[in-house]
Amino acid sequence: MVSMDVLSIRTENKFRSLITKQAYNKGDVICDIPSSNVVDKATRYTVQIGHNEHTDVGKLAALNHSCNPNVILDTENMVMVACRDISKGEELSFFYPSTEWEMDAPFICLCGASNCIHVVAGARFLPLSTLEHHFLSKHIREMMIELLNNTELHLKRLTQTEENK
Ligand SMILES: [Zn+2]
Repeated sequence: MVSMDVLSIRTENKFRSLITKQAYNKGDVICDIPSSNVVDKATRYTVQIGHNEHTDVGKLAALNHSCNPNVILDTENMVMVACRDISKGEELSFFYPSTEWEMDAPFICLCGASNCIHVVAGARFLPLSTLEHHFLSKHIREMMIELLNNTELHLKRLTQTEENK
């Protein structure tokens, strides 16, 4: 069990962020992802860990989205991992669509990164060409493939109906 004591929540104008009190190297495990309270619907305090599973993440709910994040949430091993070197006092952030298929509270990102996705609403609203540049949880990869297969099936049916006319 890796402790969350190294993380603190900073509140500025009601805007919360998660700050690390310690430096990390790329690949370091920062803490475990809490999983004692798993629910079937997303809220702004949950992280999606399976097709219909969302876990209440406690303190980690203060993690903000970034289009250029410094941590990933590895939902297969249930750990938060540094995806680049992080300095002490830095804000931690992850790419929300890497775990969220369809978010409860979508918003507009103003991060200013050249690869900014602008509308943060979940992976299902992003093109593959954008998603392929990011780490994605297993359930998101699976749901993406399902969506593609269904679309293909739908298109096939449409073509068949056209042919039978
Ligand atoms: Zn952005």
